[in-house]
Amino acid sequence: MHAAAAIATVMTGMLLSVPVNAASWSDPTIAPTAGPAQVIGRPWNGCLAGAVSLPWDGPGFEVLRPAEHRYFGHPETVGFVERLGREAHAAGLPNFYVGDMAQPRGGPMSSNHVSHETGIDVDIWFTLDTVPGLPVADRTTLEPPPMVLADQSAIDPAQFGPHQVTLLRLAASDPLVDRIFVNPAIKEALCHGYGGAGQGDRTWLERVRPWYGHKAHFHVRLKCPPGSLLCVAQPLVPPGDGCDPAIFAWWAQELSKPKPPTPAVPPARPPLPAACTALSPAN
Ligand SMILES: [Zn+2]
Repeated sequence: MHAAAAIATVMTGMLLSVPVNAASWSDPTIAPTAGPAQVIGRPWNGCLAGAVSLPWDGPGFEVLRPAEHRYFGHPETVGFVERLGREAHAAGLPNFYVGDMAQPRGGPMSSNHVSHETGIDVDIWFTLDTVPGLPVADRTTLEPPPMVLADQSAIDPAQFGPHQVTLLRLAASDPLVDRIFVNPAIKEALCHGYGGAGQGDRTWLERVRPWYGHKAHFHVRLKCPPGSLLCVAQPLVPPGDGCDPAIFAWWAQELSKPKPPTPAVPPARPPLPAACTALSPAN
């Protein structure tokens, strides 16, 4: 048994929860379960019933790294990406590349990419220097460029421009979106009105949240879909545009600290929700 699974299940001699075996959830041969879509748990600790797949190509978008089988999600997530593709295309943007969504039944990924376990999260690459109909072999090796300077003190204007701002605005204005994570330098540029971000209705800015990493892609998280009673919602984003300069002073200090070494043994993760038992590919 996987060590983390053993820790998760052996406490009083009873099976308290679902063993966590990321390898089984990442098995490329598993398929989504049939039946209605159900988001179960939290984005960083959960699973997904009744997933549907995003087409590898659609109007306005293309999926990167399709061989990794992470282009599954709740139907609302697939609908969101397809809607964003149409809106971006209508706004005159080139195709965008879609990164990780979730595995066919969600759950932990063997690569330890967290927060993509329940099918309501999707990574969208910022680069719009994209090739329509990119061959699958090239989709596996492509490394889109970062949008921020190496020290993360500011955006890189050679990479991040009005097109990226438009794509973010379209995504954050979608009524199903709960929040979007971007690098703090990107949020700060938006707060300063960069690339037209300050024009018109600015309420979309409150859903764009600064977070670690996210230099080359942004991470969209949708709200818990109606009917997914076991989906655990995050607290609401605080009201306001999130543009207080003190926030960015904090981030500047935080990101200037030396990175702590990666622990040799990854920390044990919490057990999966019991409702994931029926979905576990290990069963
Ligand atoms: Zn992500």
